[in-house]
Amino acid sequence: MASENEEVDGAAILAKSLKSQGVEYMFGIVGVPVIEVAVAAQAEGIKYVGMRNEQAASYAASAIGYMTGRPAVCLVVSGPGLVHAFAGMSNAMENCWPLIVVGGSCDSNQEGMGGFQEYPQVFTAKPFCKYSARPSSVDRIPFFVEKAVRQSIYGRPGCCYIDLPGDMITDKIPLSHVSSVKRCPDAPVMLADPSSIKKTIDLLSNSSRPLVIVGKGAAYGRAERAVREFITSWNLPFLPTPMGKGVLPDDHPLCVSSTRSKALQEADVIILLGARLNWILHFGLPPRFHKDIQIVQVDICVEELGNNVYKWLGLVGNISHVVHQVSVKMIFLDGYILSWWKFLKNKMKTNQNTFQKMISDKSSPLNYYAVLNEINNMIPDNSIIINEGANTMDIGRVMLLNHLPRHRLDAGTFGTMGVGLGFTVAAAIWCRDHAPNKRVVCVQGDSAFGFSGMEIETLQRYNLPIILIILNNNGISFGIDEESWSSLESAGDLTLMTPPTSLKPNTPYEKMMAGFGGRGYAVQTIHSLQHSLKDALNHTNQSSLITVAINPLAQRKPQDFFWLTKSKM
Ligand code: ADP
Repeated sequence: MASENEEVDGAAILAKSLKSQGVEYMFGIVGVPVIEVAVAAQAEGIKYVGMRNEQAASYAASAIGYMTGRPAVCLVVSGPGLVHAFAGMSNAMENCWPLIVVGGSCDSNQEGMGGFQEYPQVFTAKPFCKYSARPSSVDRIPFFVEKAVRQSIYGRPGCCYIDLPGDMITDKIPLSHVSSVKRCPDAPVMLADPSSIKKTIDLLSNSSRPLVIVGKGAAYGRAERAVREFITSWNLPFLPTPMGKGVLPDDHPLCVSSTRSKALQEADVIILLGARLNWILHFGLPPRFHKDIQIVQVDICVEELGNNVYKWLGLVGNISHVVHQVSVKMIFLDGYILSWWKFLKNKMKTNQNTFQKMISDKSSPLNYYAVLNEINNMIPDNSIIINEGANTMDIGRVMLLNHLPRHRLDAGTFGTMGVGLGFTVAAAIWCRDHAPNKRVVCVQGDSAFGFSGMEIETLQRYNLPIILIILNNNGISFGIDEESWSSLESAGDLTLMTPPTSLKPNTPYEKMMAGFGGRGYAVQTIHSLQHSLKDALNHTNQSSLITVAINPLAQRKPQDFFWLTKSKM
């Protein structure tokens, strides 16, 4: 038992407070003045994962927040360390994921004097957070930690920042002076207003073409059981957003992803479960949506309601509970089912045939569809899939099926490239501790890999047996072949000659993994992909990297709409 006169420093108080708030993981990079914080965290039993770049560390910590519903910590040094973490903080805010960032800062007696890495951190962090503060004194650190954790998970989840000057980290006070704060409970449940529930039921009962959209808010809110009951009880067609995939399995008979465009265009009532009407959903506007569409928005955040659309009805509350409120009041749906389902099923059949052509084209250099289809066929259904890149992610969203909620992590709302390896480290460490039989498979483009490629050392250091598959098209969106590259090289200055989208052709990324002690495979054919992936899957104790050569000019199937070009919207 601690004696009354025992003294503790700020680092130990912070670590104890984080632990008592249920923090299990800390990702970061240490240096002055936060080395003591990482050491104190480990002493408290918080697992510390040292990363190679604060960007990746902040992405990793935010992924834990999404997967578990409780925040992890990203620990950074002062000034530039925090600035690097703004990447993950903004990504967490845009994705509505909880995250706590703890930043060391320059000693308070040097402030205003041009101290080492001095920077207005609390102020600068504010736009990247829900809450940004420096504890008012060492003894009140627990109060600020509880507040940050609470703010990160209550209401719409997001990022919170705690600033600790170097002297606050090392200053000691008697243990008896430290304020005691209880663990903040999970966020209280919110239920929708009963009159809006009644209106929703009226809308649904009169709808002839209803559609449910399942977003990553439903995944984050662990609403899978309620959403499945609601959808299957009423035989409702549903569409997942990219990270809503897996709340219900992608191969569920009521999933209409393969006729996404037509389902969105023709639906007359849409029940939107934890998704925003932003670019991912084409703003809920024509021509992608019907001009008379009625949208029922189910969201925890009241400010989200009515964004971009005019005919909306808001159900503010937790998705699982609100969906249940609707379910128990529904009595029947009028006869929409047959004609609407007939229409959707016809369209689905036609579209599946379109993919089939590309899947069966196994000629080298390979196309995305054939490769992603093979990966999908081979990896276990319960894999956590991390997917990023331009074509690799767009086509991967369609080809890589999810069967479980929170098992897909991608560039998300912010469209952030470079999240892949941070997410992979987080998923792998979480699986190590909580689901050792699951595989973590990261499928990314060569450009996406480049942002945080050094994290393969992190993976090796902690013996995390992931499978990383790089779809290498030698560039960003599209690349250049070896022959064209050589002719450019001999023609003159490469900085003037090479297309800005190009990367060096046929870079052997797999050698990096092999160099760090993992397994590396170079693949040019479907046969060698099958062989390499099988071998990687068999090695459950080792990381593998498979580089798959993709035709530099391979693209998505032609799209009916081009949302990035205003004139064609
Ligand atoms: P997607 O990328 O899948 O379209 P978004 O990130 O745009 O999804 O939207 C997720 C929405 O879910 C946010 O508006 C957020 O406020 C909301 N949300 C998060 N958790 C819950 C929850 N438990 N219940 C209801 N809404 C939630």
